Amino acid sequence: MRNLHFDNAFVRELPGDPLTDLRPRQVTGACYSRVDPTPVSAPRLVAHSPEVAAALGLDASDLASQKFTQVFAGNALLPGMEPYAACYGGHQFGNWAGQLGDGRAISLGEAVSADGRRHELQLKGAGLTPYSRMADGRAVLRSSLREFLCSEAMHHLGVPTTRALSLVLTGEQVVRDMFYDGHPRAEPGAIVCRVAPSFIRFGNFEIFAARGEEAILRQLVDFTIRRDFPELDATAPDRIQRWFEEVCVRTARMIAHWMRVGFVHGVMNTDNLSVLGLTIDYGPYGWLEDVDPDWTPNTTDAHGRRYAFGRQPEIAQWNLLCLARALAGLLKDPEVLRAGLDRYGEVYSQEYRRMHAAKLGLAELADDDVALVQRLYTLMQHAEVDMTLAFRALADIDPDAPSLAPLQEAFYRDDLRERHAGEWQAWLDDYGARLRADGEDSAVRRQRMHAVNPRYVLRNYLAQQAIDRAEQDDFTMIQDLLEVLRRPYEDQAGRDAFAARRPEWARHRAGCSMLSCSS
Ligand code: AMP
Ligand code: MG
Repeated sequence: MRNLHFDNAFVRELPGDPLTDLRPRQVTGACYSRVDPTPVSAPRLVAHSPEVAAALGLDASDLASQKFTQVFAGNALLPGMEPYAACYGGHQFGNWAGQLGDGRAISLGEAVSADGRRHELQLKGAGLTPYSRMADGRAVLRSSLREFLCSEAMHHLGVPTTRALSLVLTGEQVVRDMFYDGHPRAEPGAIVCRVAPSFIRFGNFEIFAARGEEAILRQLVDFTIRRDFPELDATAPDRIQRWFEEVCVRTARMIAHWMRVGFVHGVMNTDNLSVLGLTIDYGPYGWLEDVDPDWTPNTTDAHGRRYAFGRQPEIAQWNLLCLARALAGLLKDPEVLRAGLDRYGEVYSQEYRRMHAAKLGLAELADDDVALVQRLYTLMQHAEVDMTLAFRALADIDPDAPSLAPLQEAFYRDDLRERHAGEWQAWLDDYGARLRADGEDSAVRRQRMHAVNPRYVLRNYLAQQAIDRAEQDDFTMIQDLLEVLRRPYEDQAGRDAFAARRPEWARHRAGCSMLSCSS
């Protein structure tokens, strides 16, 4: 792995914890604690992302080497690596939770590739850190596999996200009580190496504001602007305001993409939002099957539904407000941050409209068209229609003779389809008329629609099937999914099974429709 060169700006330029004690504790006056991964007994590489490996300059012989497995299991370090766990706080489910920090994630270092790009390599599940609180610092196969596959799938869908390099089984068992109901079981342990230019979250700033550690807060803000936002003038007097606005814009774009593809994050706590506007911390996330703005995959959130699909745009803005509050103490006039929050709303609406124009195959979404889109979502909700299948099938509607036939596959229930057939036909007639008004060539329109309406997403039950097999030592489905999800917008011969709507057995099955934070 001679191509990996490290430039560890975070630990070099920011204050670190002077103690090396691994016992759970409050770490003050520091952005991170140095900590080595805890070795595991029998590591085994079960999957890797060829694209991420290539971006890092790793070749086939690197990937096949014992060294690779050892390093990405946390059993060995490469020259230049300086492992650490970051200190951050966060608002969890709307309440300030104090210090959280990397309780099981350990960053190995910042690899700078030949093209000058920075790739922080972070092992998730690599052992105890001072931020582990009461937990074990480890991760199980099911959640690691879900993170590995979903971050790659999201990337190929064009959604800003952290990436994943590798998935390693540790050879050790980890005990989890999946639904916190007194049924613990031993599960295979695993480690994902995730990769991003930076893993700095809203919570990294909030912790210093909460503790009144203003000097470090300022240092971290200036560091972040300098290292991660080279397009901004790091010496400008209004840099904090400009930077915050950029975080707002990026967050708005990310959320618009989530709403476009039907992704539900599940735990949008402020420690799980990246200031780079990347989807981060894949936990009890899920993919919308039948359209339901109230749906959340996270059983821990089943009562409040704070992080349900339809609330994501509003919650992201609430989280940005937390970040703004954390930054307020650095500014003479904190009111200037309001511009960023307003900008969030503007950019989200613009992006949502732009994406929905494309999803419906319209040149643009005029004010009158917004109602057409809303009627479609309401109809999909009332008739239990699969979001992914329905949008994909819209491209096959004939504007001159619109019928429900292309959408048949998207309905979960025949009775509801029949009950709402009249409303659907009325909508289709209006949609057909709207398409005729644009008068675009059908082939061109179809192509444009297919480019934003994926045929393949990581359906909840598909991820669970891959987990079931992996727990039986069969990793083939991980490879199949990785392969199919690499080209989510193309119809792939022989891959229809990966586009199929949720089978009935998966409607209420754990892992398919219900997930917990236990991971
Ligand atoms: P999450 O809900 O995954 O964002 O995690 C919230 C906090 O709990 C973070 O500080 C995590 O590092 C920590 N955490 C979650 N699981 C574990 C674990 N098994 N061991 C140590 N810390 C954990
Ligand atoms: Mg987290």
